[in-house]
Amino acid sequence: MDFSLNEEQKMMIDTVRRFIAEELKPLEDEIENNGFLDKAKAQAVHEKSKQLGLYAMNMPVELGGGGLSALDRILCEEQFGHTTDILIRRAFGNIYEPLLHCKGDQVERWLKPTVAGQRTCAITITESGAGSDAAGIKTHARKTDTGWVLNGSKHFISDGEWSDFFLVSAKTGEKEISMFMVDKGLPGFTVGKDQKMMGIRGTPHLELFFDNVPLEPLALLGAEGQGFKLAMSALNVVRLAQVGARAVGKASHVCELMVDYTNERKQFNTKIGDFQMIQQMLADSVIEINAARWMVYNAAWMLDQGHDAREQIAMVKVYAAETLGRVVDRAVQIFGGMGFCKELPIERYYRDARIYRIFDGTSEIHRTVVAKSVMKKGAALFDVNR
Ligand SMILES: Cc1cc2nc3c(=O)[nH]c(=O)nc-3n(C[C@H](O)[C@H](O)[C@H](O)COP(=O)(O)OP(=O)(O)OC[C@H]3O[C@@H](n4cnc5c(N)ncnc54)[C@H](O)[C@@H]3O)c2cc1C
Repeated sequence: MDFSLNEEQKMMIDTVRRFIAEELKPLEDEIENNGFLDKAKAQAVHEKSKQLGLYAMNMPVELGGGGLSALDRILCEEQFGHTTDILIRRAFGNIYEPLLHCKGDQVERWLKPTVAGQRTCAITITESGAGSDAAGIKTHARKTDTGWVLNGSKHFISDGEWSDFFLVSAKTGEKEISMFMVDKGLPGFTVGKDQKMMGIRGTPHLELFFDNVPLEPLALLGAEGQGFKLAMSALNVVRLAQVGARAVGKASHVCELMVDYTNERKQFNTKIGDFQMIQQMLADSVIEINAARWMVYNAAWMLDQGHDAREQIAMVKVYAAETLGRVVDRAVQIFGGMGFCKELPIERYYRDARIYRIFDGTSEIHRTVVAKSVMKKGAALFDVNR
């Protein structure tokens, strides 16, 4: 068993880390204060990142992407966690794996321009009446002589403002769900309000409304009725990368700040790191971050070996998200009043962390997946040498 990283991986991490520190971190305060990322600045980081080959790294090389393995992707995503959501989207892209199911003319129209960064796509599954129960959607598409007609609505759609097309899940039968690529600007397609959130400022979360939107036959992604399966299987790796690895990166970043502060801040004529209760918070954070990281790496390794890592990813989703929550909570405590004060970014990290336990499946849903699996498979889920 070899846990070391090779030279290429170390260089890749270093390049991403430097890009984030030099190009993205300086923009964070402005985004936080204004609530949005300036368009010209967004374009600039996008171009710079593309020049360095850092855009669309999760997409195959033959399409113009970086062709990273799951493990290499995770290593980058961990670094992405050091900055804020909207900057990751503009700099590195947020290209969802279900798009890889594009075939024929779909490839030139939707897939390739997205990998090239000329088009941006958002994924739209959630509706006001269907969140955890993603199969309980009401949006539906009816087949016509010329294609399909789409009706319904979605909400909480991240990055909906910048995106120029959407992967939309819609019922195409009593129990069948299909996935469609829907361009902004189609007749009957309207964008609603930006639903203001507690954190991740700068990323808009939009309502979308479909009122008899005509879709060409080409808009259907994958086979009819296979949309749910397609989305759920492809979103597994997204969950591991965008939630698991980023949570580990974010927690690591916050932990670094905690360590510095405990060494600098003095009370009662000694640094606060000398107090055992502060030390416990540091120790628990370090232990949990390391545990979460190895869970993430192990699940990525399993994907690269072609194993089904669904349960491991569900465990990662819970543990990494909750670790991040505990670490940022301790950070606020260790920073005391400055942890609550907007003069430092700690309170922002605290707010930004909260969503990790909710999106891409709540902790409760993923715990349910793990519990049901372990009741079926037994020790195979926790004793790997059985
Ligand atoms: C900032 C943000 C960004 C998002 N981005 C997107 C996006 O880009 N695209 C998209 O499609 N969606 C997006 N979402 C939606 C997100 O995935 C959902 O919010 C999430 O899946 C939970 O659904 P819900 O909010 O409807 O909560 P609900 O499903 O209503 O859950 C409410 C509570 O009930 C619990 N619960 C539900 N079912 C069960 C069960 N079976 N057992 C135990 N407990 C249960 C939940 O865990 C939760 O605690 C986003 C949401 C937010 C807040």
